Amino acid sequence: MAKNLIERLDSGILLCAEGYLFAMERRGYLSAGAFVPEVVLEHPEVVSQLHREFIRAGSDIVQAFTYYGHREKLRLIGKEELLEPMQKNALQIAKDAAKEFKDLDLMVCGDVANTNIYDPNDKQTHVECQRMFEEQVKWAKEAGVDFIIAETINWTGEMEIALKAIKQEGIIAITNFAIPKGDVTREGHSPEDACKMMEDQGADVVGLNCYRGPEMMMKLLTKIRDKVSCHVSALPVPYRTTEDYPGFLNQPADVVDSQCSCIPGENAFPVALDNLYCNRFEMAEFAKQCESQNINFIGICCGAEPHHVREMAVALGRKPISYKYYPDISRHWLHGKDDSFLDINTSMSKKY
Ligand SMILES: [Zn+2]
Repeated sequence: MAKNLIERLDSGILLCAEGYLFAMERRGYLSAGAFVPEVVLEHPEVVSQLHREFIRAGSDIVQAFTYYGHREKLRLIGKEELLEPMQKNALQIAKDAAKEFKDLDLMVCGDVANTNIYDPNDKQTHVECQRMFEEQVKWAKEAGVDFIIAETINWTGEMEIALKAIKQEGIIAITNFAIPKGDVTREGHSPEDACKMMEDQGADVVGLNCYRGPEMMMKLLTKIRDKVSCHVSALPVPYRTTEDYPGFLNQPADVVDSQCSCIPGENAFPVALDNLYCNRFEMAEFAKQCESQNINFIGICCGAEPHHVREMAVALGRKPISYKYYPDISRHWLHGKDDSFLDINTSMSKKY
């Protein structure tokens, strides 16, 4: 019998690469703003390739690209009829990608996410959220996923509905809150209290994803780790968000990039955050911090690229497939040390 998610986490860290929306937007396969994952129908081969790249970089989890493939988003672009094929295709693409790497012990997961229709004072929206979550959970269950992540949700109440939809199907659930500025959920629960509520309601793993960079997320994670007894998850965005602007959704263009005056509009989110980008080593440091704090389900959300994931894997003492091409600057013509290199070049290494 293959081990389930909890048994796997009991014996150590699992890496989970996410961030498909941003990766696909940068590559030109979906539009920033609406952020609908139409690419899973229009160019499934591109999604397969990104799965492969993340797996080669060391991701233990293949997350089906169903994020934002829900009714509210498809209504927005007038394509609600594509919902079911989009979800099912995304799940199949993830399963097929995992099958390509039979030697690796990969897990496949589904996800449900912020519906953007939840209103705590409007009970009808709760019913609609429930319907949206239930249909996605049903498709993920039919696809035979190993577990489902409910993520990027910042209402405790909405997360409760998502969690219930997953648990009533008997599926292992991760609940990941995205915490806005102010360090509380939209109702005002501290992240640790909200996570404890989810643990008490049956979540198998609780934690945070999205919005915050590694540092701004870590300060909240420590309190969550102290509060709950289940496994904790942590998937920040790879951007250097700050105390003044802890979330990447609100980053004044002039603050983000004072050397650049051509960013259109006042907010650098979502398409001009480049100057805040974490390098691979910063993500590796985050992985090590998680390891030392017994935070075992870790990864990267919006902004992730395979080089970040590989460095996190290496920081954990692993040699993923793409380690074959790990940097070796000793072989660089200007900065390297090989006997074949010309002195007239290497002697100039500090002068270029
Ligand atoms: Zn994200």
